[in-house]
Amino acid sequence: MAATSLPIPLSQAQALVGYVFRQLGAPDDARCDHTHRHARAYCDSIGADWPAVEIWLKANGGACDCEVLFNTGRRLEGEA
Ligand SMILES: [Zn+2]
Repeated sequence: MAATSLPIPLSQAQALVGYVFRQLGAPDDARCDHTHRHARAYCDSIGADWPAVEIWLKANGGACDCEVLFNTGRRLEGEA
């Protein structure tokens, strides 16, 4: 479903979820703090339009990094 309004290529969205997964799985201070800090860091690193991506994530169940992982990532897998 909802990839229709995906503001970045599907491959980049999948890479974003993979990046968040790796960051949240890292030790130390990487756990979800109920923001999009990791998702945003990835978007900044690839020069993506973060405000548009944030809107899309929230519309697809990803209200913070861990929800991006569980909800948005799962939807993307269904998409592929
Ligand atoms: Zn979270």
